[in-house]
Amino acid sequence: MIVGRFAPSPSGRMHLGNVFAALMAWCAVRSQGGEMVLRIEDLDPQRCRREYALQLMEDLRWLGLDWDREAPWQSQRTQAYARAFDRLAAMGLVYPCFCSRGELHAASAPHAADGRLLYAGTCRNLTPADRIRLSGSRTPAWRLQVPEETVCFTDLLAGRVEENLARECGDFLIRRSDGVYAYQLAVVVDDAAAGVTQVVRGEDLLSSTARQLYLYRLLEAPAPAYCHIPLLVAPDGRRLSKRDRDLDLGNLRLRYTPQALIGLLAHAAGLQPSPAPLSARELAADFSLERLSPRPICLQI
Ligand code: GLU
Repeated sequence: MIVGRFAPSPSGRMHLGNVFAALMAWCAVRSQGGEMVLRIEDLDPQRCRREYALQLMEDLRWLGLDWDREAPWQSQRTQAYARAFDRLAAMGLVYPCFCSRGELHAASAPHAADGRLLYAGTCRNLTPADRIRLSGSRTPAWRLQVPEETVCFTDLLAGRVEENLARECGDFLIRRSDGVYAYQLAVVVDDAAAGVTQVVRGEDLLSSTARQLYLYRLLEAPAPAYCHIPLLVAPDGRRLSKRDRDLDLGNLRLRYTPQALIGLLAHAAGLQPSPAPLSARELAADFSLERLSPRPICLQI
């Protein structure tokens, strides 16, 4: 059976882009008779709040997007992340990184495709004595060493994707210096534990997928299928973001019914010929992710 998930971060009110991602993930699961899991990604204690998570659940219900099972929240999963971290460390693939933000910027090459920084490997070959000396003044973050190897996968919409981990990504963080485990590690540990087989999420996470697949392999867990859905953009091509406060659900709920909002989104995404209101259940009745165009979706709202 297909197991899909919502994995929202409760760092604020749900935004139209999150609504669209949740709607697509839900329709994909419901149209295939699968199981839907809700997994709250409250990994970062500085940004996430319990009230936001509760509001998110209420917003999902208002939209008509239900779930069959709730996975443990990330704030409760530290031990599971620690176990995965220890496994990777036992393989000799984890090392402490003492670089400050400024040093990282100075020593890293920006990745041509998306502006991410490519870590230069500065701390990879520190001697044990260097590590002891540096620990005196700084608390390290922890990085996972990546091989000179290309990860390939087929995304349902983006098609075949290839990423050379060493050349395009570099050794990446799996634990921050404040002790918080990184999203890349947590998402893999949690989706694997929840038995997720299908991940539908925004296109902004396509560039994380190769790192996550590498982690699935190291942790010997079966990887899910991926579908990265197009981002919503304003008519001028600008990506809609959390900064557009008028597009958060708090405001949208004052102006639209759930059916009106879903109708607008479905029309903008090319899933129905007019913006006529319809429920999530009606949209799921005749739905397939392949009908989405991989291009950004322009929304006038
Ligand atoms: N928590 C992430 C977000 O709300 C999604 C992570 C994922 O789907 O892998 O954007």
